Order: sequence, then C-alpha cells, then structure tokens
Amino acid sequence: MDAEKYKKKLEEEKEEIKKQLEETKSSSVDFGSDIDGGDEESDETEEISAKFSLEQTLKDSLLNIEHALSKFTDGSYGKCEECAKEIEENILEVNPESKFCKVCKAGM
Ligand SMILES: [Zn+2]
Repeated sequence: MDAEKYKKKLEEEKEEIKKQLEETKSSSVDFGSDIDGGDEESDETEEISAKFSLEQTLKDSLLNIEHALSKFTDGSYGKCEECAKEIEENILEVNPESKFCKVCKAGM
C-alpha cells in the first residue's frame, strides 16, 4: 500500500476543508441588521440552519481526516479499526479517511 499517496491526499483534503470553513465563517449572517425583515424571516432561518449544518459537516470531515492523519504517526493507517485487517485499497482510493474495511462497514 502506498501510504504516502493517501497521506498527501488527506492533507490536501484537510486544507480544502479548512478553506471552506473559513468561507462559511466569513459569510456569517448579520443578525442585527434585518429589523423589518418580515417576509424574509423564514428564508433567513433556513439559510442559517443550512449554514450551521454545512459547518457541522465540514467540522466532522475535518475531525475524520485529522484522525486518519494521526494514524500515520503510530503506523496504524490503513487498518480497520474493527477487525485490524488492512482496508481494501479501492476503499482508501475513494475515501482515504475510512476507518473500516469493506466487511465491517457492510455489517454496520
Ligand atoms: Zn474490518
């Protein structure tokens, strides 16, 4: 297994997600300015909750990636956290932060 390849991929993904998180933060909705919002209110609430769930998704991905990267340090990268077998390369190819092999994932 070419671990370096996946490490690089994960690091790139991490940077990308960090950038997206920054963008989510900088486009923050101004709660105070919209006093006579009336009709727009529900739209805005939807917009805010969409923003929060996007932020949450990004944060979760970031945690997963950092978790995967930390496994390079102790040499456990690419091993299933459930059965300790090697994770299939075609899974890592699509999802380098995968924690589980095909069999375990299917049984979940
Ligand atoms: Zn497994």
